[in-house]
Amino acid sequence: MRIGADYYPEHWERERWETDLWMMHECGIRVVRIGEFDWSLYEPSEGDYRFEWMDEILDFMAAHDMKVVLGTPSATPPKWMCDKYGEDLYQKDRRGYARPFGTRKHYCFNSDVYREEIRKLVTLIAGRYGKHPTLEGWQVDNELGWSNTTRCYCEKCRAKFQDYLKAKYSTIENLNRVYGTVFWSEDYNDFSQVIVPVEGACRASDPDGTEGQNPSLVLDFDRFCSDSVISFMNEQADIIRTCSDRPVTTNMLDAGVNSGTGIDYFRMSRTLDFVSWDNYVNFQWGIAEDACVSRDHALLRSYKHQPFWVMEQQAGAIGWTQLGEVPKPGQLRLWTYASIANGADTVVFFRWRSCLFGTEEYWNGILGHDGRKNRRFDEFARTGAEMEKLSRIYGALAPKPKVAIIKSFDSEWSHKIHRHTEGFSYDSLLLDYYRAFYALGVQVEFTAPEEDLTGYSLVLAPALIMVSEAQKGNLAKYVENGGTLLLSFRSGIKSMENTMLPLPIPGVFADLAKIDVEDYDPQYRKETPVSGVFGEGTAKLWCDIITAKGAEVLGVYTGDFYANSPCFTRNLSGKGTVYYLGCDLDAPAMMRLAEYLCRETGVPRPCGAQRGVEIVSTTDGEKEALFLLNHNSHTAVVPLDREYTNCLTDEPARGQIILPPYDVAVLRPE
Ligand SMILES: [Zn+2]
Repeated sequence: MRIGADYYPEHWERERWETDLWMMHECGIRVVRIGEFDWSLYEPSEGDYRFEWMDEILDFMAAHDMKVVLGTPSATPPKWMCDKYGEDLYQKDRRGYARPFGTRKHYCFNSDVYREEIRKLVTLIAGRYGKHPTLEGWQVDNELGWSNTTRCYCEKCRAKFQDYLKAKYSTIENLNRVYGTVFWSEDYNDFSQVIVPVEGACRASDPDGTEGQNPSLVLDFDRFCSDSVISFMNEQADIIRTCSDRPVTTNMLDAGVNSGTGIDYFRMSRTLDFVSWDNYVNFQWGIAEDACVSRDHALLRSYKHQPFWVMEQQAGAIGWTQLGEVPKPGQLRLWTYASIANGADTVVFFRWRSCLFGTEEYWNGILGHDGRKNRRFDEFARTGAEMEKLSRIYGALAPKPKVAIIKSFDSEWSHKIHRHTEGFSYDSLLLDYYRAFYALGVQVEFTAPEEDLTGYSLVLAPALIMVSEAQKGNLAKYVENGGTLLLSFRSGIKSMENTMLPLPIPGVFADLAKIDVEDYDPQYRKETPVSGVFGEGTAKLWCDIITAKGAEVLGVYTGDFYANSPCFTRNLSGKGTVYYLGCDLDAPAMMRLAEYLCRETGVPRPCGAQRGVEIVSTTDGEKEALFLLNHNSHTAVVPLDREYTNCLTDEPARGQIILPPYDVAVLRPE
């Protein structure tokens, strides 16, 4: 467990480096990430490769006992290259306009000329630095897919998309049949006619959805674009691995942003040696509640089920043109502990010092523009010292959850294409479930639908709208062997090609749930009261009107024409149990549902859960640690159910522990 910083020595005079490194060591920074935007320094004009400047940086870092993660600079192709290749390199948006030079991420992932240029440069970088003693690892590109750049609608992508479809469907007749192109006279005669889902004439009627495009086409395009980014990343990772044995990662984004990013992070993670992400809690583009950040950490932990890094963690007030609020005293330390508790073993802060120029000149680092020590520096120094102390007691810590939520990128993209009802969002629904368990202090993992579910006491599969036969079989086997599965509305009703199944709802899950949904009521600007084992509550998105066909009724609607109809059922199947919740629930009812499910499945709940206090039970495989994190601006008193030692103060903790605002305790059981 340690902290680091994103550092840009090329932005500063050489004479300053000594001071920076001396200050970094003083506050416990042991690793820096560098170089991820520096193409114009490596190759200022075509073929004129220059490495002396990076030689100097890496040798300087080695001489100053600092480890380095080196980025590949493919997020920012240089001007000469953009001028030379123009539209052979640029992305095109869904209106067909090129995204030109200026800003970043303006390249097409399927540009042959750009990929050739990258291969040449990355081969040289990896060959030169792959075995450098100070090099700890590699970061490919930067925030792949950020700012809606995964989906490119250019001619290059269209041609490769057609190849992708030909490989998938073999004949155009097969594609026409699967897509249902007979609808609106969309039949194709040849794969060369197939479009990418650009903005069409129907946009005004559906600006946030398919814009009227065929939903099977859109989902295939989403998958193709995700695969294109992963292929782009893997090509660089493969080159690196021919010259270097150091691990490779890329910095991912949070689930809220990632819903727009459109990359299947489970698939992306397979070829990475470790995963990392960028954690910004409060900035120009929003404020993340503590449960939301915990959810994002849990996702990152789940992509490879191993320790991860935070590659960029907020270090001050940040934004481009306007700023979010400055982190309050204690919050930077608190956020570091939240990362560590949830499975990060390295937390790298963005950035070391605020830049004097460029798009991010307002983006505050640990140091301000003046480069002096400040209160944030002091907080980092304390945090860094505590990390070193904790590392003498523990190996990498992580929760070992008994509850899992299934996250399917196929389902996510299908729900993005067809949103069902106003206000519905797949990730928000998953967060509703996560938040309920988070509030109880119960840790939750995420899994892909095909992953082994053995070991989980409870698996939640909200709005899992499509599953392959293998995925369905995986869930059925889990239940058959004694697992408890919860399904919800909008589950199992679509094919993997995003067409409706001619089956009674809940489609392929009807045999597991033993219910029939003959009708449903989207809650369009209305809400419906419910009552059940979760107490009283309200559905605000969707109501499946359920008929039990062997299942036991655990909840009913208490309003509208379907009052008294079931909304929540349970079916005993094999050695296991299948719950079906036909509606959404308001937050208090959802929390009571989580309490009920924990009780029924024997999932232990820690003592002391309360609003704004994050409780994380962790282990390093041998020793346990209980993290108590007070996200409140007021003091919290947390009761304890056994005797502990506070690893940060070495004091005994018995009965209760008092946490001042934004304070932290790491408790080792006695
Ligand atoms: Zn393209």
